[in-house]
Amino acid sequence: MLYYSLNHQSPKVNFAEAAVKGQAPDKGLYFPEYIPNLSKEFMNSIKSYSKEEIGFTVMKPYVAESIDNTTLQQIVNETINFNFPLVKISENIFSLELFHGPTLAFKDVGARFMSRCLGYFNRNNKKEITVLVATSGDTGGAVANGFLGVDGVNVVILYPSKKVSPVQELQLTTLNKNITALEIEGTFDDCQAMVKQAFTDIDLNKKISLTSANSINVARWLPQQLYYFFAYQQWAETEAPIICVPSGNFGNICAGIVAHISGLPVKHFIAACNANNVVPNYLQTEIYAPKPAIATISNAMDVGNPSNFIRVMQLFNNQYNQVKNKLSSISINDTDTKTTMQSIYKKYKYVLDPHGAVAYKVLEDYLKDKNEKGFILETAHPVKFPETVEEAIHQKIEIPENIKHLFSLKKKSISMQANFENLKEWLMNR
Ligand SMILES: *Cc1c(COP(=O)(O)O)cnc(C)c1O
Repeated sequence: MLYYSLNHQSPKVNFAEAAVKGQAPDKGLYFPEYIPNLSKEFMNSIKSYSKEEIGFTVMKPYVAESIDNTTLQQIVNETINFNFPLVKISENIFSLELFHGPTLAFKDVGARFMSRCLGYFNRNNKKEITVLVATSGDTGGAVANGFLGVDGVNVVILYPSKKVSPVQELQLTTLNKNITALEIEGTFDDCQAMVKQAFTDIDLNKKISLTSANSINVARWLPQQLYYFFAYQQWAETEAPIICVPSGNFGNICAGIVAHISGLPVKHFIAACNANNVVPNYLQTEIYAPKPAIATISNAMDVGNPSNFIRVMQLFNNQYNQVKNKLSSISINDTDTKTTMQSIYKKYKYVLDPHGAVAYKVLEDYLKDKNEKGFILETAHPVKFPETVEEAIHQKIEIPENIKHLFSLKKKSISMQANFENLKEWLMNR
């Protein structure tokens, strides 16, 4: 399996090179030459396979000769060593809970797979690599946790001071070892700008090997397919599900579409968006018009120009009609998001996080007057957004067992002004 750049100016590369480079030299996203077909036999008897067997079977064709079978199986096992329950909320809507991993968000899957791949690809390299990542909350925690203790890799996370939730901050700042948190006196956009400049700085790149842990990396994008298969194993209805994914950069839903093209039965995909409605507008008007991101209460989806949508288009041969046939996209405002968290808690005692609430509302509206069933992807645990959720449900959120220890750990961060020269000086002299 080779990967080509969607800008078509760079040579094809194998999985290892695509994962190490992240982005192609022509700044395009890497895309697999073909989407593998899973056998009918495999799909028909999927319930009899373990998660680990599914993980290996699905990922092997993408990874191909870049990782030997034994190592790949081990990477898969470590990636998915937690639960992915499909929970019934209402008569026709289920929730695929993707928040049972170490940082309580679906990003754990992609981050764990990618970090282990990069550790493996760097195994014979004497020079340490430095993963530089800016986060608005969820990405940083998952990436840092994924790389924790990986040999030869240092992780430096930039996060905006006072703009992440208490749990998110603890997840970023208490790991120590090979993880350093830089607390930036500025916004997420400032953090992002500093990281971007670092990748183009000549002195810096001469001295250290910088890598990004960006969501466009194929090693983060492709393993996200796996939980769509785990959901299908638990799907007991006669008809194929309608799947509704809260979307920002569209990496998650794009992975689901890949799974479907490989053979996974899915009736229809819905991308649920907050006020950032570039894709909903595109599907209505056939005009794709990126715009600056708008801040909302589902802030992990505040994206004005979704980086993975170009991959979604490619999966449908860049044909507007083919996309529309399989994918809908709806935008929901913050008021409806809050009302949904409130009413679903009242009716079903189910606590949605703001991202899951956007998806629930969209799927509920879509299914109205239809005799169909579907599920949402619940992408993060509500405890990561306590202010918004507790205000909506008028109830304290229970802290999950696997993060209780965080509250007794000491935060360790390095405070820094939002200025690239400060970052450069710190990186050069550490
Ligand atoms: C990152 C994130 C999303 C958006 O996922 P994309 O793959 O960027 O579409 C949705 N919900 C949560 C909680 C996230 O952290």
